[in-house]
Amino acid sequence: MTPILYFVIPCYNEEQVLPETSGLFLAKLNSMIDSGKISPESRIMFVNDGSKDGTWNIISSLTEEDEHYSGISLSRNRGHQNALIAGLMEARLHADITISMDCDGQDDIDCSEQMVDEYLKGNEIVYGVRNDRKSDSAFKRTTAECYYSLLRGMGVEIIPNHADYRLMSSRVLDALAGYGEVNLFLRGIIPHMGFKSSVVYYSRAERIAGKTHYPLGKMISLAIDGITSFSVKPLRIITFLGLFVALLSFIGIIYALVSAATGNIVEGWTSMTCIICFVSGIQMISLGVIGEYVGKIYMETKHRPRYIIDERKNLKETSED
Ligand code: UDP
Ligand code: MG
Repeated sequence: MTPILYFVIPCYNEEQVLPETSGLFLAKLNSMIDSGKISPESRIMFVNDGSKDGTWNIISSLTEEDEHYSGISLSRNRGHQNALIAGLMEARLHADITISMDCDGQDDIDCSEQMVDEYLKGNEIVYGVRNDRKSDSAFKRTTAECYYSLLRGMGVEIIPNHADYRLMSSRVLDALAGYGEVNLFLRGIIPHMGFKSSVVYYSRAERIAGKTHYPLGKMISLAIDGITSFSVKPLRIITFLGLFVALLSFIGIIYALVSAATGNIVEGWTSMTCIICFVSGIQMISLGVIGEYVGKIYMETKHRPRYIIDERKNLKETSED
């Protein structure tokens, strides 16, 4: 039986991009349906992540033009990762496989056919991996490299140069439904789940229009989330740092006592200042790191929903709502 494929495409303020890329997605879907690779019940599912522009209007009219388009609209902006999980959890109820990707044309749509081939060979997850980073600035390339090394150092398992362009089977999505965390970092969760997987390579294009929603600040937040949702190593580093500083302090105390015994009490102002600055700096950083984890625990204990679906187009309501 040919599988039902759902493309899951989060969109936030993408009115400049959607009119162009939606046609490309549909052409690809139709060509795969025509070649008998996927079922005619396959869909392109847009997730409107609380856009403030005309994105949802565009999605709504697309769903009226062609039954292969469908959409859900979240009640407000919840961020890329939440929009993605909302779409995936909705698609899980209708599809055998999903492919998630950006709506800006950066993820090479032709590659999705190879992903389906890999699935048909028996893989449950297929990762889209960039074969180069030519379309990135030197700054983004270097920071990405440093980030991957840092994650590896912290023991977090991720696929380098893979963002959120990936195929997942309904079995994987069912397993993913069990991950209720609100601090979502899908790039970490998916490899963590296991399952038979493979990789397809593609070259990432420039954005067709509009601008990125991941400026430096958001990238840093995602990077911190990636580490703190998966590793407690930073806490352990603090412990070792504490031990190291304690050792230094011990040496400092002996030095201070010896100085006092030799009657040399006034001297040492510089070293004292240095020590106070050093130790208080370390303490503030340590508190910050611990605070990151406490904050995460706080958010998790509330068990708040990660998203609320406000509207659906071309999608049946299901008993899971
Ligand atoms: N996106 C979203 N919600 C947000 C920010 C982004 O749904 O709050 C979507 C966006 O429309 C795009 C995808 O997530 O389809 C990735 O965002 P973007 O292309 O801006 O990131 P970049 O590719 O530059 O890292
Ligand atoms: Mg993009």
